[in-house]
Amino acid sequence: MSLLSSLTPMLSEIANETRWAVQIEFERYLAGAAGVAILYWLIRRWIEPRRIQAAKPSLADRRREFGQSVQAILVFSVVNLLTFAMYRAGWLPISQGEPILGILIAQIVAMVILHDTWFYWMHRTLHLRALFRRAHAAHHRSRTPTSWAAYSFAPIEAVFESIYVPAMFVIVSHVAPMQPWAIFVFLGHQIARNAIGHSGFELAWPGFTRAPLTGWLTTTTHHDLHHTEGRYNFGLYFTWWDRIMGTEHPHYHARFEAVVGRRAVEQPVAA
Ligand SMILES: [Zn+2]
Ligand SMILES: [Zn+2]
Repeated sequence: MSLLSSLTPMLSEIANETRWAVQIEFERYLAGAAGVAILYWLIRRWIEPRRIQAAKPSLADRRREFGQSVQAILVFSVVNLLTFAMYRAGWLPISQGEPILGILIAQIVAMVILHDTWFYWMHRTLHLRALFRRAHAAHHRSRTPTSWAAYSFAPIEAVFESIYVPAMFVIVSHVAPMQPWAIFVFLGHQIARNAIGHSGFELAWPGFTRAPLTGWLTTTTHHDLHHTEGRYNFGLYFTWWDRIMGTEHPHYHARFEAVVGRRAVEQPVAA
């Protein structure tokens, strides 16, 4: 067997995995960013009063967010390839049997909490003067973000954003083999919350940020305030790290209530 013919199956396997790695990230981004953009466009007459900022994002903003997101997707794809390699090396046990509901829920909850904690501290680190310009300023170019900003990261930030995934999978799968559905739900929840958090419209109800049952969840206003005033609201899914560390925006509740308290008549939709 010639060297070429022995290398061919390996090269085609690498090409397949690379295509899959890019496809997973691109389709996930499109499902979240385009999904929210289309859905909110369809219901625009109802949600216009819930527009958080008076300013409106331009087409150029959306184009920049999309372009930067595509760049980040390429970085995420490399991390995906690393994750596949870890699976092949046996570092990432994946359950092959029927899903077990208790383990499935425990894995999803554990991954969401771990991700939120990672994100809060990583995000605060990216705001340090030494890193901000090179790593995180690209994301903050969106002063009036849209759902297309979900992956709008500089390549360095894209590495920080994604490198925790294989590490977290390894940690969680060593308690019990990873359930494939847990990965699917975690990744789906991640992009949905991310795209909604950048959407620019607040769809939660009055009292949401203070109620014991919902106040620990972030809202779109929470992250939108981070884009307009970068010194507060570093959290991702939950408000608890910002509250513990004293980084919640001092007027978060008031700003939220001001948006959700608006009536349609105050901001008529242009014909
Ligand atoms: Zn953001
Ligand atoms: Zn930031």
